[in-house]
This record gives sequence, structure tokens and C-alpha cells, in this order.
Amino acid sequence: MASALTDKLSRLVKEMRGQARITESNVQDMLREVRMALLEADVALPVVRDFIARVKEKALGQEVISSLQPGQVLVSIVNKELAATMGEGVADINLNAQPPAIILMAGLQGAGKTTTTAKLAKHLIEKRKKKVLTVSGDVYRPAAIEQLKTVTAQAGAEWFPSTPDQKPRDIAIAALDYAKKHYFDVLLVDTAGRLAIDELLMAEIKDLHSILKPVETLFVVDAMQGQDAINTAKAFKEALPLTGIVLTKLDGDSRGGAALSVRQITGAPIKFAGVSEKLDGLEVFDADRHAQRVLG
Ligand code: GDP
Repeated sequence: MASALTDKLSRLVKEMRGQARITESNVQDMLREVRMALLEADVALPVVRDFIARVKEKALGQEVISSLQPGQVLVSIVNKELAATMGEGVADINLNAQPPAIILMAGLQGAGKTTTTAKLAKHLIEKRKKKVLTVSGDVYRPAAIEQLKTVTAQAGAEWFPSTPDQKPRDIAIAALDYAKKHYFDVLLVDTAGRLAIDELLMAEIKDLHSILKPVETLFVVDAMQGQDAINTAKAFKEALPLTGIVLTKLDGDSRGGAALSVRQITGAPIKFAGVSEKLDGLEVFDADRHAQRVLG
């Protein structure tokens, strides 16, 4: 397992040559490197602290102390703990509901909600053979409604019209009614997002949640968001019972530390990763692979 972090840890191990055994202070030095790596990956500070405490507890056990290659062993502990923190097996979309299964998309503006809505529509049509309807509750930006219309057509799903003069809850009720009458399996509801947390908007999406009772409430978050992801995640978790996370823009050059922060704050599984602007750029999230990327 070669990474910049492994190299750094191996250097520390070399400096320890001649010492009979690894001491607690050696482990501290190594954990300092791990801490730096996580901070460089933009994992939020409180999340890093918790994580380091957990790794330290494990690292101070016999396993590392008696190992010939403590650097590698520590990296492996770190990797395992990272993967365990970020993942929990396969986490595909849950459609266990009286049809239509409703999926509510939540997140800040620009996070990738509309794109992800279409990506999910395509995924559900192609991989799960579902009949999918989309609708936009973003009455503040007519362009967002049009954008959903366009990408829904590209995904091969059906789009339910909405207009800026409607109330989001009325749109939701009408779309649900239509979906039931026309035997759709899934209704994907795109919502408005502001550039920052906004109380009115949170009240609105809570209202939508109570009307629709979605089987999935997905929090869409931009992997490039870095440290801010923690505040966004907190606000959405307080407002909604999130059932999953979609981490977008992982094709960018961020190390994706937001995954760790958001997972820890919300407790919800990271279900998908967005890896391109195109509609086929949606992957099932792979926690092991992502752990390697976060460590750099
Ligand atoms: P919304 O405001 O949350 O609905 O966000 P949009 O879906 O409009 O996405 C905002 C921008 O991010 C658009 O330019 C998208 O093409 C882009 N985008 C969304 N997801 C991804 C992704 O996974 N990778 C890349 N590179 N761009 C993405």
C-alpha cells in the first residue's frame, strides 16, 4: 500500500531504528501525520479529533507495538477505520414502499441535486427497470425547473411540469397524484437549495417531507465543499431524517474528506458518488477505495 502517508510513516519508523520498541510517543508522532493528512483532505477538525482518538486506542494495542513494520500496520488500521466510518456494505436505493416509492433530494444550491436526480432516474430505469417520474419543487429558479425537464428527458424518464407561481407543497401533491394514477414505481422530487443554510427553505423542505413521507431522503453534497460540509450536514440532519448521502464531484481533485465529515455528522450511509457531469457519472460509493483517496 503505497501512499504519501505510508512514506511519511515509514520515515518515522526508520528514525526509530535502534529503539527496542515503539513507544506511545512514537505512535503520537505517527498519528500527527495521519491528522495532517486528514486535515489536508479537508476533513472537519472535530471529526478528525474523534477519528484520531479511535485509531489511537486501536494502535496502542499489541498489534502495532510488536510489528516489524509499524508504519504499514498503522496505515492499515487507519484505512480500516476510515472505511468503517464511511461505509456499511452495499447501500443501494431503498424502494420498499407502496408505489410510487418517493425519493426526496435535499442539499444546497449547486451541490448537484438536479443532475443527481436525473442520474438516479437513469440508474433506476436501467438497473432496476423502474418507471420513473421526476418533479421540481424549485419555484424560485425557473431555470432549475427547465434544467430538470432537460436532464429528465436525457435520462429517459418522465417529467411532471411545475411553475414558479405554484407552492412547492401543491406541486408535490399534484405530482404524487399523477404518479399514482399512472402507475409510476418511483417519484423523484428535486427541491430548491440556497447558497447557504436558510430557515425558510428548511421549513419548506420539512413540509415537503411530511406531505410526501419519502422512503429515501437523500442529502446531496459537493465533495469539494471541504470544511463547510460539516455545517451544511448538521443543518440538514436537524431538519430531516436523512436516509442516505450522495457525494458529488468526486471527479474533481479534492481528496474527498467531506465524506468522513458528512457521514459522521449525519449517521446516514453514503450511497452514491457523482463522478462526472454526465448522466452516467454515478457510482455506488466504495468506502475502501475512498479511504485510500482521503489519505492521499
Ligand atoms: P443543484 O443546484 O444542486 O441542482 O446542482 P446542479 O445539478 O445544477 O449542479 C451544479 C453544477 O455541478 C452543474 O454544472 C453540474 O453539471 C455539476 N455537477 C453535478 N454533479 C457533478 C459531478 O458529479 N461531477 C462534476 N464534475 N460536476 C457535477
